[in-house]
Amino acid sequence: MPYKGFSTKAIHAGQEPDELTGAVNVPIYLTSTYQQQGIGQNKGYEYARVTNPTRSALEESLAALEGGHSAHVFGSGMAAIAALCTMMKAGDHVICSENIYGGTARLFDKVLVNYGLTFTYVDASDPAKIEAAITPATKLVHIESPTNPMMSMVDIAAVAAVCHRHGVELSVDNTFLSPYLQQPIELGADIVMHSTTKFLNGHSDGLGGVLIGTRPEHTERFSFVQKVTGGILQPFDSYLILRGVKTLALRMRQHDANGRAVAEYLAKHPKIQKIFYPGLPTHPGHEIAARQQKGFGSMMSFELGGKQAANAFVSALKLCYLAESLGGVETLVSHSASMTHGGMTQQQRDALGITDGLIRLSVGCEDVEDILADLEQALEKV
Ligand SMILES: *Cc1c(COP(=O)(O)O)cnc(C)c1O
Repeated sequence: MPYKGFSTKAIHAGQEPDELTGAVNVPIYLTSTYQQQGIGQNKGYEYARVTNPTRSALEESLAALEGGHSAHVFGSGMAAIAALCTMMKAGDHVICSENIYGGTARLFDKVLVNYGLTFTYVDASDPAKIEAAITPATKLVHIESPTNPMMSMVDIAAVAAVCHRHGVELSVDNTFLSPYLQQPIELGADIVMHSTTKFLNGHSDGLGGVLIGTRPEHTERFSFVQKVTGGILQPFDSYLILRGVKTLALRMRQHDANGRAVAEYLAKHPKIQKIFYPGLPTHPGHEIAARQQKGFGSMMSFELGGKQAANAFVSALKLCYLAESLGGVETLVSHSASMTHGGMTQQQRDALGITDGLIRLSVGCEDVEDILADLEQALEKV
């Protein structure tokens, strides 16, 4: 089967019709164990923590979409990042982009520092700053582009070149764009990570995470971690994500079109003091985004000028929901300072520009006129 185009891959890779019945969808294999034919003889499956056919199908699909050597799925995005960090040992050093997903920073600063790992946060929009932070102990650079929630851009190819010059691996959290809009491996990343909870699943009904590696060592390591630590993705959730991925291209085209229209509308609105969307020519990372992404996506944030204004706006929304998370077909709005970045100190938030008036928007797949009308009536209340 030729899997050339992205949509074809999304619909078919890892998903041959079932050999027994011809079912075109991969069955949900609800089994914890598998009958063995004799001592040391089995059909490739022994125990469900190690492998499950529904999970394997999803892993094959995601590896194909990101152009990796293999993919390994975990019970959440955080479980995937935690698994990634098991590649490290005490004394190792990790560099990450400041402005990183709040949960990732919490894992690094509140848990993994207690195991002898050290972390340095740098403004990754300047690859020279990453290079300056590299020490002989540095093993990994972990970045997001665009960043959450300030939407600053990182030149992934430039950062990959710096990392490889120093023998350091680069991992990219590609959650905000999905492989449809950005292919970090093509740009030089060694490992791609996703919270599949977001665009890959796309329907706000399941949690998951994935690590996509580019080398046999990654495959070996991540399978080993799945088996040893056990934080794997369940068969039902694997099925949900597999189902979501089939329409990824369609959804991302709609997210992208709606995202651009909403950003253009907000950019002209008198109540919006600042807007952060790489698709706008005024965004400082616009040129990088246009070069390294296939579109600009549907994530953006904007400044309303204070907590009171932000609260008036979110409380007035009717169609768009005030909620954690992103990447679903429904438009979601969040208040970063109290929600995703609530665990930071005021000083940390100030340094990143995450003010009390900042709103993050994940534009959904509804008719854009309806989204705009809801934003309009809520902005009138500000
Ligand atoms: C949500 C998210 C995560 C964490 O994923 P969970 O599935 O919630 O554990 C990591 N990175 C980014 C960019 C995210 O948006």
